[in-house]
Amino acid sequence: MATPRLEINLSKIAHNLKILKNFYGARGISISAVTKSVSGDIDIARLFIKQGIKTLADARIDNLKKMKNAGIKCQFLLLGPPMLSEVEAVVRYADISLNTEIDIIKQLAESAVRQGRLHKVVLMVELGDLREGIMPSDLNDYVSQVIKLEGIELLGIGANLACFGGIKPDHEKMEFLSEIACEIEKTFNIHLEIISGGNSANYEWFTDNTEIGRINGLRLGESIFLGVETLHRKPILDLFTDAFTLVAEVVELKIKPSLPFGKIAQNAFGQTPVFKDNGNQIRAILGIGLQDIPFDGLEPKSNISILGGASNHMVINPKRSQLRLGSLVRFNVNYAALVAAMTSPFVIKQKIFIEERGRLLRDDRSKRHLSQKA
Ligand SMILES: *Cc1c(COP(=O)(O)O)cnc(C)c1O
Repeated sequence: MATPRLEINLSKIAHNLKILKNFYGARGISISAVTKSVSGDIDIARLFIKQGIKTLADARIDNLKKMKNAGIKCQFLLLGPPMLSEVEAVVRYADISLNTEIDIIKQLAESAVRQGRLHKVVLMVELGDLREGIMPSDLNDYVSQVIKLEGIELLGIGANLACFGGIKPDHEKMEFLSEIACEIEKTFNIHLEIISGGNSANYEWFTDNTEIGRINGLRLGESIFLGVETLHRKPILDLFTDAFTLVAEVVELKIKPSLPFGKIAQNAFGQTPVFKDNGNQIRAILGIGLQDIPFDGLEPKSNISILGGASNHMVINPKRSQLRLGSLVRFNVNYAALVAAMTSPFVIKQKIFIEERGRLLRDDRSKRHLSQKA
């Protein structure tokens, strides 16, 4: 099997989704599964549908198009405000989009009429994180215009926190969103079907509050894939945090001085590195580089340390691990590393599916808990 590769354990992803879906579903919250971090991967999308997910969400039209063209049947949701230049494609490939600009919604409406479709719109409300969102004081004006548009259905409102400004989706924010929803319904005598409260960062809010108000939807990516909430990156109980494993191969293994010799100038990335002299040292080079993955998003699964690297190589200290030429070195990935590895055409995606949730899964899970305690 060639390297570098990302091993994707579909059974673990399915397990995570099932638990999250039941957990949130028990109190009336339905999950839109977010596929952007896995580049709209078809196998993963199919797995989500098999697990009963009704809406797949992605930030890129190309990913929605790929999934739709692969014959996946569900509602497709475009995350984040559409670009003016892609309005036609948005109406064609997305059933729903999250919106914040009235001019874009008007263009979506025109395009929907032209294409003979109905496009559903969720208005995003700015709750303080300062990424996408309509200021609450402008919202009534937006609603009054949107509900008049032909070709458009106002499906609901939503919010997105903990992305740009790192603002928590807490009880206060969610209560405010609920109140806004009720107010809009009263003012315009309409029903809002979806109140989409946020993303994987909403876990703590949900566990800490029995009162969830009108919130009935979340858009989840990271917690399904990596088994963590995203305010503190704490593992969620019973979820797998190791569904993805990066595997790279030793291409050079030698004893060398730990201090570069010659006159010091810039390295490949324009930095002037500083080194400590630890005498002679075993060093290995792995065939994976910064072009494929950010090294600080990797956690080695064996006792080695990353010394640095360049576009196509990673230099490691193999310590006492018994590496040889061609040996495989495995890493856990964080969100940034996952996104990069899924996007790099040079990283092979190897899907593993263990039909029976048998020994292997349970063994892995007990190891995970042990390593957390260590
Ligand atoms: C990426 C994204 C999400 C999913 O976020 P996770 O942290 O992966 O759960 C939800 N909503 C919007 C608008 C997004 O852009």
